[in-house]
Amino acid sequence: MTDRPKLTTSAGAPWPNNQDSLSAGKRGPVLMQDYQLIEKLAHQNRERIPERTVHAKGWGAHGKLVITGDISKYTKAKALQPGAETPMIARFSTVAGEQGAADHERDVRGFALKFYTEDGNWDMVGNNTPVFFVRDPYKFPDFIHTQKRHPKTNMRSPTAMWDFWSLSPEALHQVTILMSDRGLPQSPMHMNGYGSHTYSFWNDAGERYWVKFHFKTQQGHTFYTNAEAEQVIGKTREGYQERLFNTIEGGDYPRWKFQVQIMPEADAEKTAYNPFDLTKVWPHSEYPPIDVGYFELNRNADNYFTEIENAAFSPSNIVPGISWSPDKMLQARIFSYADAHRHRLGTHYETIPVNRPRCPVHHYHRDGEMNMYGGLASGNENAYYEPNSYNGALEDRSATEPPLRIDGDAARYDHTEYDDYLQVRELYAKVMNDDERARLHGNMGGAMVGVPTEIVERWFGHLKQVDPRYEAGVRAEWEKQSRDAGYDPNALPITGATPQTTKGDSAHGLPGMSHAAE
Ligand code: NDP
Repeated sequence: MTDRPKLTTSAGAPWPNNQDSLSAGKRGPVLMQDYQLIEKLAHQNRERIPERTVHAKGWGAHGKLVITGDISKYTKAKALQPGAETPMIARFSTVAGEQGAADHERDVRGFALKFYTEDGNWDMVGNNTPVFFVRDPYKFPDFIHTQKRHPKTNMRSPTAMWDFWSLSPEALHQVTILMSDRGLPQSPMHMNGYGSHTYSFWNDAGERYWVKFHFKTQQGHTFYTNAEAEQVIGKTREGYQERLFNTIEGGDYPRWKFQVQIMPEADAEKTAYNPFDLTKVWPHSEYPPIDVGYFELNRNADNYFTEIENAAFSPSNIVPGISWSPDKMLQARIFSYADAHRHRLGTHYETIPVNRPRCPVHHYHRDGEMNMYGGLASGNENAYYEPNSYNGALEDRSATEPPLRIDGDAARYDHTEYDDYLQVRELYAKVMNDDERARLHGNMGGAMVGVPTEIVERWFGHLKQVDPRYEAGVRAEWEKQSRDAGYDPNALPITGATPQTTKGDSAHGLPGMSHAAE
């Protein structure tokens, strides 16, 4: 007993009694002066911080990035030079579900990596899919509203999702992947990660290249069908956390192969597709993936809240040799992710240990809530503004990236002019086999059960333009599964109807999806 640490107040004073409150007499009320009781209750009230608006449910671990290839001719990034080893943390997540959501839901997965390089933190905030639902940031908040709860019913609404998607054909590519096998990985270890956006590399000679990041699972792409996921969720809602945590704890460290696709700067003017359009991939045949190395996850967090919940990833965090691109969604995320963390964790979120760079940090930001950094890099208290004559930190012009060559007039360009069908056709007709297509039809048809006929027909119009087999397959599944669920698929009105919601028996995932592929 005597070897155990002594309980103290949060101010460090010894605390004599943590069992009995201070009261006026045996039966009396507690006293205001029982400050530690008040402190304890007040702390409990403040244990929760705002959950992320998206990607609230997450799982993560620490690890290392190891570079085995040589891409030094494209980038001067120190962490990407041959032989480099860089500590890192990864956080995976679902997009739509709240913090208590079941892990095995059909959804896109977040794939966020923070590399603690000697030149500062590089964050790669991607997904498990190479594309996204929208290409213009104006559409992002609306899209997320369709994934969240209906304002009146407080339930999730397949009608809203399919209404939005059917009016946004650029979503076809991502929705196809979401409804394919890859939309329900067995665990975070069984999925790829993609930077999704186009980023850029720049080298010592000041040349810029466009780049796509790929992280390929070495554990295999194993997935669950909706029916299997229902079984899993019936037993545990924390299946991802359990598998990731226990695998690492058991010393079996998951790995991902790290690859890049490189595009010379001038090619961006020539490709048939817009290489900065987040709803498109760069075909492997045109820009073959180059092996760079791998990352491995080998250490669980000691404390989930301080290391995984407090982890703040933002595409604004780049390091010399790596930069952004004109991708409009990326440009918006550069602002909105850092802003989300300022809201969620506070202005000084980068001083929280898990976010703190492992290299010296010198800046002139001052004061503010929870500021624990004086910012006096020179050690001279007079150097608290810049420029100064007191030996304060100076800018480093060697970190200047080559100019981003942007040509064009400021205007609102019609983003709907792109071909949103071709790459989906490649995926559907050439990449998928018959079994994969059949499961895709079942998953998608089931997810549209109960959605007004007009919306479903609008979506079918898009599928037909991809491939008539796609439309016919999903239509047949939708009709069958609608009837099985007690709906007349051809008589669901769009106007005057109560907002459509799940029938309430959905055990997992997006409402309506539980009916699929059983
Ligand atoms: P390839 O045949 O060279 O590549 C096809 C890629 O598709 C595979 O390498 C694999 O990506 C991925 N894939 C396999 N099954 C699925 C699935 N069920 N859902 C999503 N992706 C899957 O062809 P292209 O590069 O010409 O691309 C053809 C189509 O493949 C694209 O239109 C796109 O839909 C899809 N795709 C392409 C990717 C790319 O970066 N080029 C990446 C992912 C998908 P991986 O090797 O990354 O596992």
